[in-house]
Amino acid sequence: MSRDFSRKTDESTLTTLCPRCLDAFRNARGIRVRRADLRQTIKEPCTYCQTRFGFDYYIQPTSPKTTYFKKGRFDDESECA
Ligand SMILES: [Zn+2]
Repeated sequence: MSRDFSRKTDESTLTTLCPRCLDAFRNARGIRVRRADLRQTIKEPCTYCQTRFGFDYYIQPTSPKTTYFKKGRFDDESECA
């Protein structure tokens, strides 16, 4: 069975991740990891560690909520007349 996957999908970053790096990505905040091709059976060298082998994944940033900065500053506007 040969599969030619020449079509390009650029909806997000396509990265090859081994199970080890995949785990690190899944634990990372603000990132969503999705299998690019669920039928993929041939493992490719991991883009990150380049020592182990894994499958292709889409790396997507999640909602911009993660970059929300909380400023706990109060302006003292109360005036005692
Ligand atoms: Zn890896």
